[in-house]
Amino acid sequence: MLKTSLLSATALLFVAPTFAQQSSTNAPAIVTAIRAGKLVDVDAGRVLSNQVIVIRDGKIESIGANPAIPAGAAVIDLSKMTVLPGLIDCHTHLADGDHDLNHDPFNQLRRSASTVALESVANARIFLEEGFTSVRDVGVYRALNDVALRDAINHGYFVGPRMFVAGAYITITGGAGAMTGAAADITLPLDLRYGEANSPWEARQKVRLLAHDGADHIKVLSTGAVLTHGSHPSSTEFTQEELNALVDEANHFGLRVEAHAHGAEGIKNAIRAGVASIEHAEMMDDEAFALAKQHGTYLDMDIYDEECIQEDGRLGLEPADFLEHDRELGELQRTNFTKAVKAGMKMSFGTDAGVCKYEYSSRRFAFMVKYGMTPMQAIQSATSNAADLLGKADLLGSLKAGKYADVIAVNGDPLTDIHVIEHVAFVMKEGKVYKNEPSK
Ligand SMILES: [Zn+2]
Repeated sequence: MLKTSLLSATALLFVAPTFAQQSSTNAPAIVTAIRAGKLVDVDAGRVLSNQVIVIRDGKIESIGANPAIPAGAAVIDLSKMTVLPGLIDCHTHLADGDHDLNHDPFNQLRRSASTVALESVANARIFLEEGFTSVRDVGVYRALNDVALRDAINHGYFVGPRMFVAGAYITITGGAGAMTGAAADITLPLDLRYGEANSPWEARQKVRLLAHDGADHIKVLSTGAVLTHGSHPSSTEFTQEELNALVDEANHFGLRVEAHAHGAEGIKNAIRAGVASIEHAEMMDDEAFALAKQHGTYLDMDIYDEECIQEDGRLGLEPADFLEHDRELGELQRTNFTKAVKAGMKMSFGTDAGVCKYEYSSRRFAFMVKYGMTPMQAIQSATSNAADLLGKADLLGSLKAGKYADVIAVNGDPLTDIHVIEHVAFVMKEGKVYKNEPSK
């Protein structure tokens, strides 16, 4: 009963007035039609004009120039706008709380898990309003906060993107995903060391635990990190044997694995083990490119983050050892991003949101174009490619009959000016309108 009333309250609060008025019929199915002036067909890499999308019960029923609009359908007029599939960010950290408190992970110890979880409610809302209807959330310091956030959004307690979550970081003790910095005789609570593993069998055990706890995919850290005390980005963490065991175990549960990896050896070990994507991927060498091509591994390169890390450094907000780790990595990542685009690698859109403010995520599109992608490629990285990486291409990533009605719209043409996508004016997730500000 409580759930029902919350759901309907949410619907009333966030559905655009025209939609709410026109859909208040007694018909059992909610049917909506969107008139799209321009529509980006990301699968074919083209733009169509004057399309109509018919949506029934959250999914696209039909799409085309002249589909019959069912009697009684609510009509949403986006005929002056460019309509795109909902965006998918493949590398977020929405459940770590407020960005401003997050420069040093150790700040997590100054807040309770509940405080961090409630701070994260705002992150989810910001992301959805920016046009991200789905995210692959790739790790959280307080284990399972992301599972709770995902489930609360799905229950309709508050609004946010559809989340696919990792549950915890699988990391070596003292490694990139560990909460380091405490004195040696301090024992951290379990949720802050949940995913630590130090052998092939421990890696398997952590995968089993996270699969049971509701993880949608597995995040492993195969090198050191920029934003972790006592860790270095070029160091290799986990052996090939450990990574092979982890990926094999994840496969038993149908879970894909993403690997955080800066250094070349850690990147190559993870690719050989069979991960679905390499996160960050700064120090890709020729062999790493060849292996990724051979294995069909996605590269998820967060090339905008350098701006935020260095700016925060100038403001004195970034710990000195993090800035030292970061030196030169940013430029190397951008060079290798351009190289990857030219080499035709599989590439997805990942911001590492949390490092930059949550509302900055769309700025990455212009950087991807600046460093070699066409606007269409940048959009595909956050739609069709991202859905493929998630293994959800049957439901997400493009506007096709049978898929979720995750639809956004912008004023202007993002294919001639990619910055247009930084101002999403209309957001629909699974047939429900969450934002409708056509004049923005
Ligand atoms: Zn990250």
